[in-house]
Amino acid sequence: MDVVNQVEHFPQPGETIASKGNDFIPGGKGANQAVAVARAGGNCTMVGAVGDDPYADSLIASLQTKGVDTKLILRKDGVSGMAFITVNSEGENHIVLSKGANGKLAEADVAEAINDWSAVEIVLLQNEIPWVTTESVIRGASADGARVFFNPAPAIRIPDELFTNIDTLIVNETEAQVITGIPVSDPISAENAANWIIGKGAANVIVTLGEKGSLLLGRQCPVNHVPAFRVKAVDTTAAGDTFIGAYAAANAEGMEAARALIFAGAAAALAVTKAGAQSSIPSREEIESFLQ
Ligand code: ADP
Repeated sequence: MDVVNQVEHFPQPGETIASKGNDFIPGGKGANQAVAVARAGGNCTMVGAVGDDPYADSLIASLQTKGVDTKLILRKDGVSGMAFITVNSEGENHIVLSKGANGKLAEADVAEAINDWSAVEIVLLQNEIPWVTTESVIRGASADGARVFFNPAPAIRIPDELFTNIDTLIVNETEAQVITGIPVSDPISAENAANWIIGKGAANVIVTLGEKGSLLLGRQCPVNHVPAFRVKAVDTTAAGDTFIGAYAAANAEGMEAARALIFAGAAAALAVTKAGAQSSIPSREEIESFLQ
C-alpha cells in the first residue's frame, strides 16, 4: 500500500507540518505487474503475502477487481508491505519502504503454494521478496519447464550461475547498469548491456528506456529497438510494471516478439497518460483500440 502525502515542503528534523492531502494507493511491483498481465488478457495468479492490518483486504480486493486470481496470497502476522511517500510542491518525493509481509514470504511458503511449476507457462518475478525465495523459485520453476521472466527491481547483481535459468530478463536503464556495470542511457548502450546479459546465459533480454522506448535481444533473435509512443505524460508511475505485465501476457499467448514489444509499449504509454498506479493500467480493449 502506497501512503502518499502531499506537502508544501519537506519537514526539517523535528518539524511538524500539515499535509495538503493524502492518498492510499494499492501498489507494489508484483501486484502492479499482476494487474497489467490480467488487464492485457493474461490468466494471472499472484503468489505473495499481505499482513493482518486494515490495508490487507483492500490490497487483495484491488487485485480481484482487476481480474487477478488471489487464492495463493498468504496472510502473515504484522503489516502489509508499505511505501510512505511524501511529495512536495515541486513534485519531488521522499519514499520510506517497509517490506512488511513481503519480507516474510519464505521459500517454504511458495513451495507449499506451488510444488510443481510444469503447468505454469510463465513465472514473472520481481525483487521485493527475500532473495533466497526469489532464487529458489527461479531455479525450481525453470527446472520444471516454466519460463522465468525476471524483473530485478530494486536492482541487484545477479549471481552468474542463475542467468541460464532466465528466459527473459526485463530491466530499465538503472537496473541494466547495476547488473552489467555498463552505463545505459540510449539504444546503443542498452544493446551493449543486453549483449553482456545474453553472454551470461539468459535467453532473452529487454531493456526499457523510458521515452526512448524498449529494446529486445535474444539468443535466437537479432536486436529490435521499438521507439516509445508519443503521448502527453501525466504520471509515469507503473509505466515499467505495465510494460512488463503486458509483454508477459502477449508472450504467453504466442504473440511474435516484435509485435509484443509494440503491444507492451502501447499499454505503458496509455498508463503514463493517467495518474495512479494500478488504476492507470489499461485493458486489452484500450490497448487494441490505441493501436488501430
Ligand atoms: P521504469 O518505470 O521501470 O523505469 P521505463 O521508464 O523504462 O520503466 O518505462 C517502461 C516503458 O514505458 C518504456 O519502454 C516505454 O515503452 C514506456 N514509457 C515510459 N515513459 C514513457 C513516456 N513518457 N511516453 C511514452 N511511453 C513511455
